[in-house]
Amino acid sequence: MKPKIYLIGRSHFHAEDFLSFLRNESTEWHRTPGATEPEEIVEVSGRVCYMSFGEKQSPRSNGDYIRNLINQGHESVLEHVTWTFLLTGVSRAFTHQLVRHRVGFAFSQLSQQYHEETAATFVEPAHLQRSPQALKAWRSAVALSQESYRTILDSLKELNGTPGLDLQQKEFKRAIRSAARSVLPNATETKIVMTANARALRYFFKVRGSIPGDVEMRQVAAALFNAVEAEAPALFADFRLDTLSDGSPVLAQRELNDNR
Ligand SMILES: Cc1cc2nc3c(=O)[nH]c(=O)nc-3n(C[C@H](O)[C@H](O)[C@H](O)COP(=O)(O)OP(=O)(O)OC[C@H]3O[C@@H](n4cnc5c(N)ncnc54)[C@H](O)[C@@H]3O)c2cc1C
Repeated sequence: MKPKIYLIGRSHFHAEDFLSFLRNESTEWHRTPGATEPEEIVEVSGRVCYMSFGEKQSPRSNGDYIRNLINQGHESVLEHVTWTFLLTGVSRAFTHQLVRHRVGFAFSQLSQQYHEETAATFVEPAHLQRSPQALKAWRSAVALSQESYRTILDSLKELNGTPGLDLQQKEFKRAIRSAARSVLPNATETKIVMTANARALRYFFKVRGSIPGDVEMRQVAAALFNAVEAEAPALFADFRLDTLSDGSPVLAQRELNDNR
């Protein structure tokens, strides 16, 4: 099972509203042909700080303007743009690391208390295929934990109504699923919705996109990068996607030239 990402939400630039603001201010804005909506949101947010419209607008293109913002460390402007993704085919081990990112991210994850995991699937880590012994050990451990999960759930169901488990159905299920899930491995597949702003994503790509020993993290970072890079290339122009010798993706960040 491979990570799969769905882009389910994005920021929308209401150009007409913004242009009506400029008319009210008796000024105008020279737009860069081809700039995308997220790129324009970032540009106008930066320009409003200095009201650099009309005669005060430099001949910089949208891409150069954003490059300069990033070079100057004026990255708070990038926070105005967000994307919402649904990630599937990822392990709980991966999401445990993902949700450590507190700033500029929002998460909603499949619950193991509200959702029964009897039919859970498991994310096979990289490299196991190269060792028949390792693969066999992993498969038997995963199968045993799933079997134990079902046994624990079925056994505790029989205690419904006894002291401590004399609960309303919802809380009874929460209690027995909580006990059963404790034996599920880090490899258990999960689903998570994640919203992140462009600044937070850049930070995530920088610290998580290039860790050699974490293939799953790099795969997700690369998939997220491909999605947002297509949406707003100027916001991620200093990142490059490469491939390691095993064919897995890796992100590298380079210095942006200042084209002032
Ligand atoms: C290679 C690697 C190895 C790791 N190993 C471990 C590990 O062994 N154990 C472990 O527990 N975690 C580990 N982590 C997770 C790491 O410690 C962070 O929790 C995670 O990367 C999120 O980073 P962050 O806190 O910078 O991000 P965010 O929470 O998104 O914060 C972004 C930035 O905001 C600022 N910020 C956020 N909160 C505060 C605050 N309260 N006070 C001041 N400034 C703040 C900081 O500048 C921070 O970098 C590892 C991460 C990496 C990349």
